[in-house]
Amino acid sequence: MKRISILGATGSIGRQTLDIVRQHPDKFKVAALVGQKNVAALAAAALEFQPDFVAIADGNAYPELKAALRGMQVEIAAGEGAAVEAARYDADICMAAIVGIAGLPSTLAAIEQGKTVALANKEALVCAGPLMINAAKKSGAKILPVDSEHNAIFQVLEQDNQKQVQKIILTASGGPFRNWPQEKIQTATRAAALDHPNWSMGEKITIDSATMMNKGLEFIEAHYLFDMPPDQIEILVHPQSIIHSMVAYQDGSILAQLGPPDMRVPIGYCLGYPRRLALNTASLDFTAIKNLSFEPPDDLRFPALGLARSALAAGQIMPTALNAANEVAVAAFLADKISFGRITEIIDGAMQRIENAPQNTIQELLAADLAARQIAEGLI
Ligand code: NAD
Ligand code: MG
Repeated sequence: MKRISILGATGSIGRQTLDIVRQHPDKFKVAALVGQKNVAALAAAALEFQPDFVAIADGNAYPELKAALRGMQVEIAAGEGAAVEAARYDADICMAAIVGIAGLPSTLAAIEQGKTVALANKEALVCAGPLMINAAKKSGAKILPVDSEHNAIFQVLEQDNQKQVQKIILTASGGPFRNWPQEKIQTATRAAALDHPNWSMGEKITIDSATMMNKGLEFIEAHYLFDMPPDQIEILVHPQSIIHSMVAYQDGSILAQLGPPDMRVPIGYCLGYPRRLALNTASLDFTAIKNLSFEPPDDLRFPALGLARSALAAGQIMPTALNAANEVAVAAFLADKISFGRITEIIDGAMQRIENAPQNTIQELLAADLAARQIAEGLI
C-alpha cells in the first residue's frame, strides 16, 4: 500500500490522479489532499477518498470546508503554508500538481522530505531547477516526471547509456493555431485558444499550448530533469500526439514512447513506478492511425520558443522572469485584458527590461518573480 498526497487535487491532473487511485484501492491510500479555493470539489474528493489531512490555500474557505467535512476523522489546514504542511505530511508519493510558481514551496518541501515526487508542476522546476535538483540529491528524493513528454523520455532513457545519448526529441502537438497565419494568431479569441485539438487540461497550460510557451517551459524542464545541454534538445511538432517524445542514441537508434493522448498513462506510470499498473485507458489502434506526421516548429509565428531558449541560455533569474511574465500575461489574456498576440510581447518586454542577476537562493528567486510580475503588469 503506497500513501499518496495530492497537491492540486481539484485540478485536471489531480482529478486524473484520483481516478487512478479509484481504480486501485488495494495499492494506494490517499494521505493528504490540497486545493486552492473550490471547497465543494475538495470536500467531495475528501469524502470519497478519506484522507488523513486536507488543506485549502484560501484561508477564508476554512469554515466552509470544516462544515463540509463534519463528522469525518481528518486534520484540516487552511491559508498560506497549508499546502507545505500537506507536502510534509506522512506519505510515500507526493503528486505535485498545483499550477504555476504557487506550487513551488510545497513541491520543494516534498523534495526536501525525501519523498517520491511525481512532478506535474513544471513551472516550479523552470524557476528553481538547480535548487530542486540539488535538494533531491541531498534528501534522496526521486523526481518522476508526469509531463507526458518527459515521462516518455524517462521511460526510454537507458540508465547505462546516458553518455551515449545523442539528443532528446521533445514532441509538440503544435496547439490549436498550428496552421494559422500570423495575423490571425495575434487576434485569436479566448475560446479558440482554449480549444486544444488533443488534450483536455487546465486553462493556464491550455493557453501555454496555444502560444507554444508550454513547449518552451518543457524545453527548460527537460534540460534540468535529464541534465541535457540545450543544443541536444530538439523540438519537433507532431500533431497527432501519439509519440510522446524520443531519445536518439549515438548508434543511430531512436527509442520512442507511444500511447493515446491520455494523461492517466504518465500519471499511472509515476504512481506505480517501478511497476506498471493496469489502467482502463484506450489502447492504440494502429490500423486506425492513418498518418504520423512531423514538422519543425515555426519560431516566427510562435516566438515563445525563442524566448524560452534565450531565458535558459541567459540563466540566473531569467527562467524565473520568463515564467512570471508568462503567468501574468496568460492571466490577463484569460481575463480579456489583452489580445493573444500581446502575451509573448509582454514576456519579451519583461525579459528585456529586467536586469539579470544571480539566483542562488529561494529569496533571490522570489524577488525576481515579484520584479518580473511588476514589470509585466506595467506593460499590460
Ligand atoms: P488546473 O488549473 O486544472 O489545476 C490546478 C490545481 O492547483 C487545482 O487543484 C487548484 O486548486 C490548485 N491551485 C492553484 N493555485 C493554488 C494555490 N495558490 N495553492 C494551492 N493550490 C492551488 O491545472 P492542471 O492542468 O491540472 O495543471 C497542473 C500542473 O500540471 C501545471 O503545472 C501544468 O503545467 C502541469 N501539467 C498539466 C497537464 C494536464 O494535462 N492538465 C499536463 C502536463 C503538465
Ligand atoms: Mg507536456
